[in-house]
Amino acid sequence: MIDLIVAGSGPTGLWLASELRLHGADVLVLEKDPQPTRIVRSLGLHARSIEILDQRGILERFLALGQKYPLRGAFAGLIRPAPDPMDTAHPYLLGIPQNITDRLLAEHAAEVGVEIRRGCELTGLSQDEDGVTAGLADGTQLRARYLAGCDGGRSTVRRLLGVGFPGEPATAETLLGEMEVTADPAVIAAANEEVRKTHLRFGLMPLEDGAYRVGVPAAGVAEDRAVPPTFGEFREQLLAVAGTDFGAHSPRWLSRFGDATRLADRYRDGRVLLAGDAAHIHPPAGGQGLNLGLQDAFNLGWKLAAAIHGWAPDGLLDSYQAERRPVAADVLDSTRAQMELMSLDPGPQAVRRLVAELMDFEDVNRFLIEKITAIGIRYDFGAGPELLGRRLRDVGLKQGRLYGLMHAGRGLLLDQAGQLSTAGWADRVDHVADVSEELDVPAVLLRPDGHVAWAGDDQQDLLSHLPRWFGAAAS
Ligand SMILES: Cc1cc2nc3c(=O)[nH]c(=O)nc-3n(C[C@H](O)[C@H](O)[C@H](O)COP(=O)(O)OP(=O)(O)OC[C@H]3O[C@@H](n4cnc5c(N)ncnc54)[C@H](O)[C@@H]3O)c2cc1C
Repeated sequence: MIDLIVAGSGPTGLWLASELRLHGADVLVLEKDPQPTRIVRSLGLHARSIEILDQRGILERFLALGQKYPLRGAFAGLIRPAPDPMDTAHPYLLGIPQNITDRLLAEHAAEVGVEIRRGCELTGLSQDEDGVTAGLADGTQLRARYLAGCDGGRSTVRRLLGVGFPGEPATAETLLGEMEVTADPAVIAAANEEVRKTHLRFGLMPLEDGAYRVGVPAAGVAEDRAVPPTFGEFREQLLAVAGTDFGAHSPRWLSRFGDATRLADRYRDGRVLLAGDAAHIHPPAGGQGLNLGLQDAFNLGWKLAAAIHGWAPDGLLDSYQAERRPVAADVLDSTRAQMELMSLDPGPQAVRRLVAELMDFEDVNRFLIEKITAIGIRYDFGAGPELLGRRLRDVGLKQGRLYGLMHAGRGLLLDQAGQLSTAGWADRVDHVADVSEELDVPAVLLRPDGHVAWAGDDQQDLLSHLPRWFGAAAS
């Protein structure tokens, strides 16, 4: 019996599988596509995703292949410089195409021992008290203790579970592709400026090697968005929208995406969990989907590991939905709001002007940046100090940095006075006696995902909080 089967080797599935491996669980990733896709969707990572890569010690490889851009407000494309400081040690946006992100995540997964089986489509699912049986398209049956559906917006797992996916269907579609063009860069720049006055989904973006990433509104909404547009359709739309096809030729890939917005009714059904696009979809405004999926996986990984190893306290696995579904609901609302503000109708345009004025207030700008970057997330752990439920940024210690101590994915007590004890939980929680000038609480207990589970200086109080996240003390 495998500990966990992950359906889907997108960023969410790869990160979840890697997190489980850190805890020694036996993980198998099933991926229906025989080869990684060439289609590039996401173009960047926000602060909290950058932090989780840092927390597991693999950020350097992303920095080596990405480009740092200053952190700024970009709500509905309204640009404002970020206030300083923000609550992160990584106050920048990392520009990195999704195919590279996916590749680096796959390499990390392979390094920690994840098995990825390509060309394996999950088509069936049943579960009982002891485990889950996954049926593959070739008739193979596999058995696992848990299964995670990280199989994207059209999730088969979600459908097989019968989990509702309410929301709004797509009303508009955009064609996206990479291709070469013969048009002069000055002509392209002029078209970008002129056409975007009436079609915000239009644009040609130069790539490093001279080709272009081209987006253009589609004529309608395709019945099956999985079917890519033809190059003829693509050029026809360029002609219709911009009056020229820019001499486009040699397409590398073509795709289409819509503006549907949907949220799964539940993230868990018994031993099966949903994460990433399988649980939520929304238009790409603000560039949040991949980031949201990575952070779902980061939240779920250690909890599933705890369940597999038998030390999960009651309710730990359910806290995944309780914490992450409201975050996704908020992202959906934020993208709905951004889409409204990008409408060219007079009403939304008036609201857009008003929001632009409001963004000149630092608190408003900060609030919106914290929303899009996920810096503002605070899980509801009940009453307590301001830090409780928030992710602790990477703080400097007398000996090194905090995130450097969290690569193994364990809990951590940072004890500035060095007078506390986690003795009964030493197999799950590291105890670090060190001092940080950036921290104004005597001690913090961090979950493996870096969220503050407790802050204080009282040993009895600490002992009453440890079991909630880390189960019973070892005897
Ligand atoms: C144009 C565009 C731009 C975007 N820009 C950004 C951005 O800048 N920032 C950002 O954060 N997000 C962005 N996104 C969103 C981002 O691409 C997605 O949110 C992200 O890829 C979701 O990751 P995932 O792993 O959950 O799902 P996916 O990446 O969709 O991966 C799911 C995987 O599951 C596999 N699969 C499906 N069904 C099965 C099955 N039955 N069995 C086995 N395998 C299966 C699929 O082949 C796929 O490999 C953008 C999206 C679009 C369309």
